Amino acid sequence: MEMLWKDGKRKALTFSYDDGTIHDRRLVSLMNTYGMKGTFNLNSGLFGKVEQAVINGIDTDFSRISGEEVKTLFEGHEVACHTLTHPSLTEIPAVMGRAEVLEDCQNLEKLTGKPVTGFAYPYGTYNDKVEEMLAECGITYARTVVSTENFELPHDFLEWHPTCHHESPKLMELATEFVKEDATEAKMFYVWGHSYEFAQKDNWQLIEELFRLMQEYGQDIWFATNDEIATYTKAYRELQISSDGNIVYNPTEVDLWYGIGKEVYCIHSGERKELI
Ligand SMILES: [Zn+2]
Repeated sequence: MEMLWKDGKRKALTFSYDDGTIHDRRLVSLMNTYGMKGTFNLNSGLFGKVEQAVINGIDTDFSRISGEEVKTLFEGHEVACHTLTHPSLTEIPAVMGRAEVLEDCQNLEKLTGKPVTGFAYPYGTYNDKVEEMLAECGITYARTVVSTENFELPHDFLEWHPTCHHESPKLMELATEFVKEDATEAKMFYVWGHSYEFAQKDNWQLIEELFRLMQEYGQDIWFATNDEIATYTKAYRELQISSDGNIVYNPTEVDLWYGIGKEVYCIHSGERKELI
């Protein structure tokens, strides 16, 4: 019995983009053109800030989007927390860290009208204390900046390592491997970055090439936000199986899919089934 994704698909693709700079507008527009889904990690305390910054030696327009455009710009995608003002959470007092997370969530929830439970670590820094605090604040998953260069799901969603950054020299190699792989169980390809990096180098074709390839194989791929993947995976892990392995019960709110050999099965929320 193998875990499959929604609608029995064997592959999922997700994106995570940080900081909410104005270049998100072009990225979202490209994602929408190709039917991709992403998660955008925003610092609501910096909305509307106009800033020119030198990042990695390159002069960059680091201006932020405004709060007013959050709801419409990210329609169909996920808005997630990246703290209010982008401090490293391992270097500030716990009480300040908590306020940075909660205030950002509250601001984003007011703007989107939805619960915000996703998170990306500013500067990628975290430790056990920070993870504990996030869980207490209702955060259900948190993305790091550690590349796995594989397609496996995380064991611990508060240390969710992406497959790679979009600037990885291996991006298209990994993407090709992913779409060609004859997967028997749920696999995930997870790309992260900052939209200003495309503006800095004017290399938008990089991500467009990836979108085009993934769209071509779209029949086999679930295009999902980070939250959709985390929610689905956690629900799947709650499936109850009888001790003789013959009965499966879905106690969650989520319809789930699994595969036995080449056969695909769906077990609805609250349903009990015999495994054949
Ligand atoms: Zn950031």
